[in-house]
Amino acid sequence: MPHHPTPEFPEHLEALYRQFPFERSLAQDPLSCVRRQAHDPAAAEVAGLFTATLAVGNVTAIRGAVAELERRIGGDYAGFVERPPAEHRAALRGYRHRWIRGDQLALLARRVAAARAEYGSVGELFRAGLEEGGFAGGLDRLSGHLRGAPGAEAGPRGYRALFPTPLAAPRSPCKRLTLYARWMVRRGFPDLGVWSGVAPSELRIPLDLHVHWIAYHLGLTRRKSRTWRTVEEVTDALRAVDPDDPIKYDFVLCHTGISGDCPKARDLAVCGPCVVRPDCLLWRRRGGAS
Ligand code: SF4
Repeated sequence: MPHHPTPEFPEHLEALYRQFPFERSLAQDPLSCVRRQAHDPAAAEVAGLFTATLAVGNVTAIRGAVAELERRIGGDYAGFVERPPAEHRAALRGYRHRWIRGDQLALLARRVAAARAEYGSVGELFRAGLEEGGFAGGLDRLSGHLRGAPGAEAGPRGYRALFPTPLAAPRSPCKRLTLYARWMVRRGFPDLGVWSGVAPSELRIPLDLHVHWIAYHLGLTRRKSRTWRTVEEVTDALRAVDPDDPIKYDFVLCHTGISGDCPKARDLAVCGPCVVRPDCLLWRRRGGAS
């Protein structure tokens, strides 16, 4: 039973990338909210962190949650985090998106301001961890700072759980912070590339349900659970395709699922023109790839 990429997979994946309607799918992605701040790296890295933290549920709800946040903070992310904590709490009182509440975001604002005061930027905080322990070390340093040092104020109920780390919680794919790192580091469209001190080759795949489904069915992993080991395995497979920028394919793999381009089932009308059909387990399994 074949369950690994075909020899032709790199060309097929590149063809999928080249023909992908990025602009169509960007309108359906939370990144479109962050791109409005792309002119200012300080605003972009703060907007990205808040938006990634809110990236739970469907994109319409996420975009609504980001719009409501921006209304409350006057659209000024970098300025907002520098305000006194009482103003953070007042601006975000009663705010809610799914299980994420305004009191949690108010503490996040305070911790972001502290990170920027100590390191100069959130990106430098991440880079300091990266230099010590690779990408997982970067996420660990970032998450650890946002959660607060051991013994520090624990914060509102559920706050710490918003920021998992691959070192402390290897069962988590740490999808939201991994996605945040992609937005900040990659310089290729549609990402922002505002953390210039981190190489795109260091990134790991933000493993949501859509990416995991297609990665599994294209043979990039045999793992059926979304753990950090699966993140590493899928990233290694993509690194074999593009060692310098393995995560350039994330947006395409993710939105192939979100957009409905991939029905996640054998459907000849849709799968017929799919350029990765020769690699797709649903078709290889039954010898129907030709
Ligand atoms: S062949 Fe069909 S099910 Fe497989 S990846 Fe392509 S669109 Fe999805």
